[in-house]
Amino acid sequence: MATSAARSSRLGGLGQWWGVLAGALLIAAWINGAAGPAVIIVLSAAVLLWSFFQAPVTCGAPVRGRDDGCRNNASGLLMGCHIRQHRWQKLKMLIVRRRVREFCSGLFSDGKATLVTLAAVGSFLSGLVALIPGAAVH
Ligand SMILES: [Zn+2]
Repeated sequence: MATSAARSSRLGGLGQWWGVLAGALLIAAWINGAAGPAVIIVLSAAVLLWSFFQAPVTCGAPVRGRDDGCRNNASGLLMGCHIRQHRWQKLKMLIVRRRVREFCSGLFSDGKATLVTLAAVGSFLSGLVALIPGAAVH
């Protein structure tokens, strides 16, 4: 069954993980040491943006009658799924202080979310170290 919906979801399923590939390149750049800090900063920024705005994680917005929330695919840790009310749900959670804990628990809600969260933290640290003169290993 090669419906267009199936095709796009299959492409989306793999294409959406380019950030992991960039993350692997970033780790290789760190191990290799031959890549300059510019390469590391660009890769770090790419992985960070991917995990915030593109990574295929679960939406998780509160849904009436469901304990685990919305199970649609969301675009990144900071964005919700295609449902308009969910789209900015997570950013709102970050702004409303009593819901930050809820947001943080969502970062580790499943394997995918944990992987994307670790990618975000890792790339952030990597970019930070690459940007601070003297902090990088020579
Ligand atoms: Zn949703």
